[in-house]
Amino acid sequence: MNMIKINPTNASRLSEVDFDNIPFGKVFSDHMFTATYEGGQWKDFTIEPTRNINVHPAMMALHYGQSIFEGMKATVDQDGTPLLFRPEKHIERLNASARRMCMPDFPRDVFLDAIHTLVDTDRDWIPPQEGSAMYIRPFMFATDEYIGVTASKNYKFMILTLPVGPYYSKPVSLKVERKYVRAVRGGVGEAKTCGNYAASLLPAKLAVEEGFDQVMWMDAHEFKYIQEVGTMNLFFVFKDRIVTPATDGAILKGITRMSIIDYLKGEGHDVQEYPLTIDEVKEAYKKGELVEAFGSGTAAVIANISRIKDTDIDMKFDESHWELSKSVKAFINGVRIGKKADKYGWIVPVKEQVEKS
Ligand SMILES: *Cc1c(COP(=O)(O)O)cnc(C)c1O
Repeated sequence: MNMIKINPTNASRLSEVDFDNIPFGKVFSDHMFTATYEGGQWKDFTIEPTRNINVHPAMMALHYGQSIFEGMKATVDQDGTPLLFRPEKHIERLNASARRMCMPDFPRDVFLDAIHTLVDTDRDWIPPQEGSAMYIRPFMFATDEYIGVTASKNYKFMILTLPVGPYYSKPVSLKVERKYVRAVRGGVGEAKTCGNYAASLLPAKLAVEEGFDQVMWMDAHEFKYIQEVGTMNLFFVFKDRIVTPATDGAILKGITRMSIIDYLKGEGHDVQEYPLTIDEVKEAYKKGELVEAFGSGTAAVIANISRIKDTDIDMKFDESHWELSKSVKAFINGVRIGKKADKYGWIVPVKEQVEKS
C-alpha cells in the first residue's frame, strides 16, 4: 500500500540539464517529497513538482534553529537500476538528530517508501556517468509561527534530489583549529543540525584566508583530541594500524565512516577507534610512521589529506602514491554502481513503483 500521493509535473526541466556539466548543489530534479506534522502526527505525504514554499516570517526554524538534515546518494548500475546506499542508516540518524533537537521522529517506513518513490519518479535525473550521482537531501524544520523559545508543535519534512557530477576530491590541506570549536561533549555535534554548519563558517573562512582548505576540529575541552573536518570524518593510517577518532558524542557518526571500518576490517586490517590525540599523529609523522590520512563522507567518499598544520609543526604529505585510500574509494564507488560485489549488504535497489507511460 502506498500512502504517498503523486502529483507529477507536466513540465519536466530535464532537457535543460547538461549531465556533463552540472553545477554542484544548484540543480534540482523535477519532484520533491513533502510531509506535514500537525496535531501530533505526520500526514499529507506528497510527491509534487519542486517549487517554492510559503513561510511566515515568524516560522520557528528561522529563529530558534530546530532544523535537521541528511545527505545520501543514489547511483545507477550497469542496467540503469537506481541503487541506494544504506538508506536505513540515514533514517536512523535523522531520527537521532530529531530527538536531540526535540523534534518528532519521522516514520521509518514512510521515509524509505518516499525515497524509493521519489528516486523512481525522477530516475531519469540520475546521471549515468561514472562518479556522478543523484544527491538526496531529506530535511525537517519547525514551522510554528511563534516568537518564544520552546519546541515547535508543527514541522515539515521534505526531500529534495539533485543530479551531481563526479566529485573531484582534490587533496585537502588542514589547519589544526586552536581557537574555535565545532562541538562540545553534551552539545549537538552528533546531530546533523543546521547550527553546527553555521558555527563552522567563520573559522573555515579564516582558514581559507590563511591558505588552507578547511580546519581540523579539536575537542573543546583540552584541544588535544582530534574530532573531524567540515563534513568528513577522519582516518589515520599508521605503519601497523588504522585509527579513526572514537565518536564521543561531539563527532558526527558518518555512514561512510562506518562502511569504511567494515571494509577495512573485512580486508584484515587492524582498525581501531579511540580518542586520538594530535600528539600521537605528530609523533608518528616525525618517525615516518604516518602512512596515509584521509577524510570520509557521502559527498567525496574519500578525500586525501595533503597537509596538517599546527602551531609547532607543518606536516606535508605526498598522497599521489597512497594505495589504501585509493582501494577504499574504488571499493565503495564500485559497489555503488554494481561493479563490485556488495559483500557487506550496503546496497538497496530502488523498487519500481511508477508506471511509465
Ligand atoms: C554528514 C557529515 C559527515 C559524514 O557523514 P556521512 O554519513 O559519511 O556522509 C561527517 N561529519 C559531519 C560534521 C557531517 O555533517
